[in-house]
Amino acid sequence: MTATNAIEARNVVKAFGQGDATVRALDDVSVEIRKGEFFTLLGPSGCGKTTLLRLIAGFEMPTGGHILLDGQDITYLPPNKRPVNTVFQSYALFPHLTVAQNISFGLEMLGKPKAEIAARTEKMLALVKLEAMAGRKTSQLSGGQQQRVALARALAPQPKVLLLDEPLSALDLKLRQAMQIELKRLQQETGITFVFVTHDQEEALTMSDRIGVMSQGKLQQVGTAKEIYTRPRNRFVASFIGETNFLTARAEGTKARLASGDVVDLDVPATGDKTLTVRPEQVRLVAANEAGALVATIANLVYFGTDTHVHLALSDGTEVTARVQSPATGDAGLEKGAKTGLRFAPGAVQIVGD
Ligand code: ATP
Repeated sequence: MTATNAIEARNVVKAFGQGDATVRALDDVSVEIRKGEFFTLLGPSGCGKTTLLRLIAGFEMPTGGHILLDGQDITYLPPNKRPVNTVFQSYALFPHLTVAQNISFGLEMLGKPKAEIAARTEKMLALVKLEAMAGRKTSQLSGGQQQRVALARALAPQPKVLLLDEPLSALDLKLRQAMQIELKRLQQETGITFVFVTHDQEEALTMSDRIGVMSQGKLQQVGTAKEIYTRPRNRFVASFIGETNFLTARAEGTKARLASGDVVDLDVPATGDKTLTVRPEQVRLVAANEAGALVATIANLVYFGTDTHVHLALSDGTEVTARVQSPATGDAGLEKGAKTGLRFAPGAVQIVGD
């Protein structure tokens, strides 16, 4: 079982401070990160993602629980004995050394033979496409180029796991997007397990094989981007990833009655008071008199270029946002104050826990 996992955290607890001032940065976290996957820890500031990364690196010891690498317990192994490397947001390059010297530094520390160091450094330079910059001092490079050097340096000793702590957050938007593609390529080409930390949901959705969503020291949900987006387990996950509507309802089988009295379909049967969630792009606007449609009033329209956000009010005032394609110029379009029909796309209504 463990052989397919690069990293396993078992019931990990990390507390900082003492007495009333104790902070449980990690509160019973268990997760399995598979070999060769691009795994992202996603969550708001302070949720514990950096702490989990530091425990995997060995910079911190847990208060309880275990960390396994390739099935071996490494909980108390010092950082330099772990086949793990970290890329930090700050890059932490040596400014007085050249690009090639920065990349070969770790290999020299490991006492590798000269020929091997030269060959690996060259390979790493090619991997991050910096062959032409090999002799430059890193202080003479752009932010994006420095980030590439940091990645090459961390990958050079061929770690089993590469930990990346918000490595792109210092870059501007365009460069960050380019580096996202670059990182994904590097991970696929090397086959090394990447554990990537970010608070940026879009970054997590576009790059990861799987995502672990964290909040308040707990892992809330683990899954692919699509699983997490379309089947969020709880209110936190639903609202942290993408935009969504929440509706309170009373469920009976595969039907749920909203506070407005409208009845909607569920794809999983349930009973009792529930919170429902439906993504704005799954709300369809139809004619107000269409059979079976919910009737709403258009409260506001916000234009976002290709999309328009239509803020709707159901008969009891419950707010629902629909995201629709913006009407072409000259279309009659949608009007504030008008009545409209709305439908939820099949399977779009999900029940979430609190
Ligand atoms: P960010 O995105 O802001 O880095 P994070 O999700 O990585 O946040 P952590 O840095 O893991 O969060 O911190 C989790 C909690 O543990 C926070 O409440 C933080 O204040 C606390 N914490 C982290 N390190 C320490 C420490 N060395 N001493 C005391 N408290 C700490």
